[in-house]
Amino acid sequence: MVISTVRELNQGRKFILPPSLLAVLYIGLIASTLAATAVATPGSDSFAQEAARGMGVAAAAMLAAQFVSSGRIKALSSGVGLDVVLGFHRFAASMLLWFVALHVLAFVAPTLALGPARAGQHLLTLLTSPRMLTGVLAVAGLLAIIVASVKRDAWMKYEVWRLTHGCSALVVLALTGHHVMTTGTASFAPGLWGFWLVVFGAAGAAFAHIYVGRPLLARRVSWRLDAVTKLTPRLLEVTMTQTRGPAFSFIAGQFVWLNFRPGLTQPFDNPFSIASGPEELPRMRFLIKTVGDLTRSLPGLRPGADIGVDGPHGDLIVEGRDAGSILLVAGGVGLAPLIGVLRSLAAQGDKRPIRCIYAAGAPGNLVYADEMRRLESQLNLVNFFTVDEAPPDWAGGAGPIDATLIRRALDSLDRDHTLALICGPTPMMIATADMIAEEGVPLSGIVYERFAYD
Ligand SMILES: Cc1cc2nc3c(=O)[nH]c(=O)nc-3n(C[C@H](O)[C@H](O)[C@H](O)COP(=O)(O)OP(=O)(O)OC[C@H]3O[C@@H](n4cnc5c(N)ncnc54)[C@H](O)[C@@H]3O)c2cc1C
Repeated sequence: MVISTVRELNQGRKFILPPSLLAVLYIGLIASTLAATAVATPGSDSFAQEAARGMGVAAAAMLAAQFVSSGRIKALSSGVGLDVVLGFHRFAASMLLWFVALHVLAFVAPTLALGPARAGQHLLTLLTSPRMLTGVLAVAGLLAIIVASVKRDAWMKYEVWRLTHGCSALVVLALTGHHVMTTGTASFAPGLWGFWLVVFGAAGAAFAHIYVGRPLLARRVSWRLDAVTKLTPRLLEVTMTQTRGPAFSFIAGQFVWLNFRPGLTQPFDNPFSIASGPEELPRMRFLIKTVGDLTRSLPGLRPGADIGVDGPHGDLIVEGRDAGSILLVAGGVGLAPLIGVLRSLAAQGDKRPIRCIYAAGAPGNLVYADEMRRLESQLNLVNFFTVDEAPPDWAGGAGPIDATLIRRALDSLDRDHTLALICGPTPMMIATADMIAEEGVPLSGIVYERFAYD
């Protein structure tokens, strides 16, 4: 499914790398690492040795690239979408582990012909050799990082995971750097050291940008909490106003990282979509569902509290896209960015046909429904409310979003030029996107935002 297209957009989104260029850069990094190694070091007669060396240097380059694909570099995530970047980050981590395993196995492969005992002995000698220490520690660290990432939710708090993930990745990078620059045939070429210094230096710079640069930039701006209002037992409206720093700007539908403990920088910030339009600035509104430690603590915050804002990010926007008509599909708290889009379109007096499907568990969970009904007279808007549990007096739809409802919403719209923005639980978004595509809306016109990256 196409999640977003790449466009030249304004407000902090000036430098965006297209997905095809990202793929070329990634493959180019690995290819140039192999080429630099081949040119700078003498070849070996043994195919296994050559393969082991190739796998090793490729894995080291892939590790460095992981720092750039960790999700906070806007030039990357604005082009393909943050969830795609993080999905790639996870996929590349497992590929990296395979390359490391093959790197080790290729060294042992020639002794396999002499029997498993001999190969085992060789492997043990290799791994316990003092000059292999940093390499072995790097592999152990990598394994620990991957296992902790998979088991994250069961083992630790999200913030603890994020902090340890970043710091331990930096240690693994340093160990790998030492290993490739001091061990094996690929290490003795001073020309290669320059190459590795650039590659590892870029990875370190990405880390510094994420953990130091961006938080420092965010400190130039400060926001004051106005109110936290309970809309339903689990949905809060949080409003805040900018009090200091260069005027904040964003496009309706984008999200920011909010830090409710601004004394602490990374990793104590969480992503939330802006539920208001830029026309309301310097005030912003958020619709937040209470799910865990941070979101449950929000009602306890006092008005006037400082809030850190890092952003804007994200691509769930109308501006700059082919949108003769607009279909918004929200599930539960997924309404947050889409009500921001609606409010912004209303403030601009937009005349395009807009259809909005909003699904929730029960009528009482449909927040802002009255406001959305009022907007029908201000915009060319038709709302379709649907709930899982419909009481007898409920006038809206019942049951999940299905093809019939999508067809009704798209009725009379020019599907070729309809932009569909979807936000809600991931299975609902995937099913809805497929149904919209089956109704003839081009894939490039279907965009969604995930609230979870797993
Ligand atoms: C792009 C985007 C926009 C979002 N917009 C909204 C919104 O408008 N309204 C809303 O209610 N929720 C939104 N979310 C989800 C929101 O970020 C999480 O629900 C919130 O961070 C949970 O924090 P917690 O400590 O209360 O819960 P926890 O129990 O700590 O976390 C629950 C889950 O939320 C995710 N999460 C937790 N902390 C972070 C973090 N620091 N960074 C990234 N993910 C985290 C993890 O998947 C975790 O398993 C959005 C998420 C994303 C990715």
